[in-house]
Amino acid sequence: MALPTTQAELLLDLKAALGEGALWNPLTARLNFVDIAGKKVHEYDPGTRALRSWATPEKVGTVVPRRSGGLVVALAGGVAALNTASGQLTFLAKPAEHDPAQCRFNDGKCDPQGRLWAGTMSITEKKGQGALYCFAPGASPRQVLTDIGISNGLVWSVDGTRFYYIDSLTARIDVFDFDSASGNLRNRRTAFAVPEGQGLPDGSTLDAEGMLWVCHWDGWQVSRWDPVRGVCLAVVKVDAPQVTSCAFGGPDLKTLYITSAREGMAAEQLAQAPASGGLFVCHPGVAGIPAGIYAG
Ligand code: CA
Repeated sequence: MALPTTQAELLLDLKAALGEGALWNPLTARLNFVDIAGKKVHEYDPGTRALRSWATPEKVGTVVPRRSGGLVVALAGGVAALNTASGQLTFLAKPAEHDPAQCRFNDGKCDPQGRLWAGTMSITEKKGQGALYCFAPGASPRQVLTDIGISNGLVWSVDGTRFYYIDSLTARIDVFDFDSASGNLRNRRTAFAVPEGQGLPDGSTLDAEGMLWVCHWDGWQVSRWDPVRGVCLAVVKVDAPQVTSCAFGGPDLKTLYITSAREGMAAEQLAQAPASGGLFVCHPGVAGIPAGIYAG
């Protein structure tokens, strides 16, 4: 039986090099996302349709809301606070184990307790060079996982007891038991894998029914999965091959925003998919859950 399939619409034709990191900011009621290679942090207001952007001096892999105001970003070299009024960036943490000459920060999210989790990848996409770090406000950064290819797709279960994680180069979505008090991860196992021929898993988000939405890099789609049974439930088609991240937003958290990239595509591919790098949108009929906020 064919899976329920919807088509995403192009919302903003940004032609981003590497659109990423979509996250609905519950403090501002706006969508934040980044262009990693374009070195920009974006904020989209669906009410006015206005787009506001801040330039960053380094590649920026992650943006999350900050409880005390403004945003927190993961730059190539570490985690920084972004003052959204002045545009000023102030480093909060640079993990000792992280070498910006070898790796850069990529996808990240906050857990329900307000710690920021962000991982790294090799600048030359070498396997096993990346790591996952946890940044708790007021504490030293903690290296949580090593031997990572491309760190992506961080999501906590609705009840906060499980953590879903994607190393894109493995094509798998893994799951850990999550101890919310200590922030420790245990018992890594595979939840499911993206089938061959559908690209590699990139960013992900969770809906209120506990189902996982996974973006397919080189796969032209976002897919909805039951992560417990490992079954694909629905597909959202995107008019861009490199689908990178997604987040539910809007006042009712029922709009699925989807980022994409045009980096690395040949001229013929770009001619076939001219909307690549755009921000897409669809309404799949289910709501998301509120994003975590950096507690510092
Ligand atoms: Ca990503």
